Amino acid sequence: MRNPELNAKIVARGKDFFSTISGEKPSLFDKGAWMGKVMDWSMQNEQFKIQMFRFVDVFPSLTTSKLLTDHIREYFGEEMDMPPVLSAGAKMAGMLGSLGGAVLNKVISANIQEMAGRFIVGEHTGEAVKNMEKLRKDGFAAVVDVLGEATLSEEEAEVYVGTYLELLDALHDEQKGWKGLAGRGGDPGLDWGHAPMVNIAVKPTALYCLASPRDFEGSVEAILRRMRRICAKVVEMGGFLCIDMESYLLKDITLEVFRRLKMEYKDYPHLGVAFQAYLRDTDKDLADLLAWAKARNTRISIRLVKGAYWDYETVKAKQMGWPIPVWTIKAETDAAYERQARMILENHQVCHFGCASHNIRTISAVIEMANELHVPESRYEFQVLYGMAEPVRKGILKVAGRIRLYCPYGDMVPGMGYLVRRLLENTANESFLRRSFAEDDQIDRLLEDPEKTAERERGERAAKAKKPVATPGGLPRFANDPMVDFTRADHRAAFPAAIAQVRAGLGKIYPLFIGGQEVTTTDLVPSVNPAGPSEVLGKICQAGIPEVTKALAAAKAAFPAWRDTSPHGRAQYLLKAAGIARRRAFELSAWQVLEIGKQWDQAYADVGEAIDFLEYYAREMVRLGAPQRLGRAPGELNHYFYESKGVAAVIAPWNFPLAISMGMASAAIVTGNPVIYKPSSITGIIGHHLVEIFSEAGLPAGVFNYVPGAGSVMGDFLVDHPDISLIAFTGSMEVGLRIVERAAKVHPGQRNVKKIIAEMGGKNAIIIDDDADLDEAVPHVLYSAFGFQGQKCSACSRVIVLDAVYEKFTDRLVKAAQAYRIGPSEDPANTMGAVADAAARKNILEYAAMGKREGKLLYESPIPPGEGYWVPLTIIGGITPQHRLAQEEIFGPVLAIMRAKDFDQAIEWADSTRFALTGGIFSRSPEHLARARRDFRVGNLYINRNNTGAQVERQPFGGARMSGVGTKAGGPEYLLHFMDPRVVTENTMRRGFAPMDADDDWVD
Ligand SMILES: Cc1cc2nc3c(=O)[nH]c(=O)nc-3n(C[C@H](O)[C@H](O)[C@H](O)COP(=O)(O)OP(=O)(O)OC[C@H]3O[C@@H](n4cnc5c(N)ncnc54)[C@H](O)[C@@H]3O)c2cc1C
Repeated sequence: MRNPELNAKIVARGKDFFSTISGEKPSLFDKGAWMGKVMDWSMQNEQFKIQMFRFVDVFPSLTTSKLLTDHIREYFGEEMDMPPVLSAGAKMAGMLGSLGGAVLNKVISANIQEMAGRFIVGEHTGEAVKNMEKLRKDGFAAVVDVLGEATLSEEEAEVYVGTYLELLDALHDEQKGWKGLAGRGGDPGLDWGHAPMVNIAVKPTALYCLASPRDFEGSVEAILRRMRRICAKVVEMGGFLCIDMESYLLKDITLEVFRRLKMEYKDYPHLGVAFQAYLRDTDKDLADLLAWAKARNTRISIRLVKGAYWDYETVKAKQMGWPIPVWTIKAETDAAYERQARMILENHQVCHFGCASHNIRTISAVIEMANELHVPESRYEFQVLYGMAEPVRKGILKVAGRIRLYCPYGDMVPGMGYLVRRLLENTANESFLRRSFAEDDQIDRLLEDPEKTAERERGERAAKAKKPVATPGGLPRFANDPMVDFTRADHRAAFPAAIAQVRAGLGKIYPLFIGGQEVTTTDLVPSVNPAGPSEVLGKICQAGIPEVTKALAAAKAAFPAWRDTSPHGRAQYLLKAAGIARRRAFELSAWQVLEIGKQWDQAYADVGEAIDFLEYYAREMVRLGAPQRLGRAPGELNHYFYESKGVAAVIAPWNFPLAISMGMASAAIVTGNPVIYKPSSITGIIGHHLVEIFSEAGLPAGVFNYVPGAGSVMGDFLVDHPDISLIAFTGSMEVGLRIVERAAKVHPGQRNVKKIIAEMGGKNAIIIDDDADLDEAVPHVLYSAFGFQGQKCSACSRVIVLDAVYEKFTDRLVKAAQAYRIGPSEDPANTMGAVADAAARKNILEYAAMGKREGKLLYESPIPPGEGYWVPLTIIGGITPQHRLAQEEIFGPVLAIMRAKDFDQAIEWADSTRFALTGGIFSRSPEHLARARRDFRVGNLYINRNNTGAQVERQPFGGARMSGVGTKAGGPEYLLHFMDPRVVTENTMRRGFAPMDADDDWVD
């Protein structure tokens, strides 16, 4: 707002607004009621707020009085220690103590239900319609939203559509008896003379369970298919439909759905979409949509909100390494809102405006801008949420007349996400309602021009900005490479382009790389696309004993100079290599799609992890490379430092063909150990990418040698060789144990005891507790079990479900799995691709058949026709620990479901295999989570999330027992396994004179 005159009018109107509602409080902040007390307590006590909101979230799952009692105690302490706001009702009833639990349960349950009820217009259609009629009597129009967000299966999406259709039928009959809300002329059969009386809001994620920007077109069309059915009915009855805006991930999909739907109803004006002012993209998106509508001569409607997912968007972006898509200063959002509101009002001929805000400054700005621009009343209205800001809505009713309440309706269980969002919104420090009604912030401050507020805050933030943290070697702090971001059209387009580019260059012969030279052999093995093995991607020269011998000699010759290169110097090569891999990220990912069948995001994550290893180990080596002084005794200098071990054999798997190869090889290289690298025989081309990257980085000859070949020909020779000092291996338990055994034997000429760094298998379990959030658990289990066809050592292969939720979880899991599509991974619509090769397929099919004998088949997906290495997605129930399916690693998409009678048994079963790699638990019980931390003995335990996708530095990865030797790749101790520590002690005293160091333990 750069117009002082207009701003003065806005402030005057705002003051007037405040004076008309002075002394009134929204019911939310009424301390006379339980909810007001809870809000008050939450705003004073952050810890209570977290516990309270988490409790509200878990509450619908607490279906027995024991569950309820336990959770109340776990969240809030024993009755006597509980915050008075919670126990007050029971205390008043004089019922604390022996019988108190039951009373407390009742009091708390009733209060939470009452609280949820305040935001929900009704749990059933009849109740909703009745309440809407009451609202109409008070002069308020409504927009109805069926509660329920992301659906997990086609069936759930159908139920959602069905609820809308049923609601619309009920409203259709009901509206015949309604009179339009009074306005200034117009059609008396419409509200305010111009607005349809039936008005609904629809959430796009509820219409398609696999909506994802990776499959942009497929998601748009799938959402549209169901949206059309709702829309047809709305149009038939002359109603209004607005598409809600949810997370940023689906923003462009939602806008595209709206554009396509609008084109199907080009002349129908009552279709709208919500825009979120907090998104940095919105200025442009809005201008684009307005121009689009003008160009097509179609009238649209926009509901402008500030946005309900601020915390989520910020946290998610930080975790993924993406730019934060929202404004980070609250006043920037407010200013954006005013800017965008003006843009809409200026285009009122094509765009109707729903101003959705509870903020008196924002509302006043819209009123004054509309006056200034002479916007007819029929072209804009005000909207607030049902259950919130009663004084504001009364004030708007008085001033503008046209106010609509957003009325969620439906079951409380899906309603809890909505309720928690409202609680967060109202207790946030920045909330206008909190500041106006709970804290009585100064009115001038509340009505200030947000541009001015934002400018001031930017200045204050700049003054407080944190100084960059000093790191060893002055390198910038390690940060994970950003994940691929399919909300970006360029990232979406990059995959098909890179795949086409890779395809154009197929058929090459890939030579060995020994001592800095390419070496070709006549023994060639084709590398093929698992989704269509007749497509030969290239041919890999195979090394035999003579070539491996040559590579060993080259590595041995390179060792002294490489060992003596400074740690910092060695690290520089890794940093260069990281830059090269980053530049080639999409092309390297495309190879993974074709050579091993990774889905786009999985392929990019593998490349990103490879880059992370390079960046991280480079920094780690610089950190570890500086000698440490030990002890503080004067006259003596003890230096502790690390030395390279010798030649390293790196034996890599096919499932993370770049990341694990790069991780093991770069750790060996940066610690000063030349490498003999043997990639998996089915991912030889990706293996060759290491040659390309390290060569371009200028690594000295002999430091990295690439010798693909059959394990049966040269595996034992390499492991047994006396010139090998360490072996870094990732693969199956059988091969790993064989290496451990063979490497123990000392051969003539051998100078080192061989060090083994081995990552082996897993039989990973996820526990589903009786209070788990199934909306979260189901998709995460599916992703953990079937992402990349279940071929990760971290993949979930057992899910242990507590008896109380077994039926519900299993039913939802199976129905959600039915939506999975199996087909070539290069098509982003497919969620599962082909498995690695014919041997893997045979093995998986044998296990699936065995599972069917041991347990009960719950689901087996169809597979595509054709020559690919397809196996069905298979879910087997009725498995217990004595079954082989519960004990043996399969490495494929076969998931065993185990029904545990209680949590003790679930933990016992989780820990009942010889593996200890990853594990997961979905629970909202603090005590169960504490127990899992202690007793669920795996290398990587994941709480309330998927159990794959460990990130370098944040989740160092690796297991114990038969899963490996306990080294954690991507962690602070990994490099130590590749080096020997040495200590040099110098007596610094000569002839009674000793130089003193500042930290010497000297006389005071
Ligand atoms: C009718 C209606 C429909 C709605 N539909 C949707 C919808 O489809 N999609 C949706 O996302 N929301 C929707 N909402 C919710 C809406 O986003 C919030 O109610 C709204 O943001 C609250 O804004 P306010 O102006 O009332 O309050 P204010 O207190 O002025 O603003 C609060 C808002 O400011 C923003 N904010 C908070 N902290 C910061 C910060 N540090 N930096 C930058 N911005 C910050 C957030 O958006 C927060 O919600 C709807 C609301 C209504 C009334």
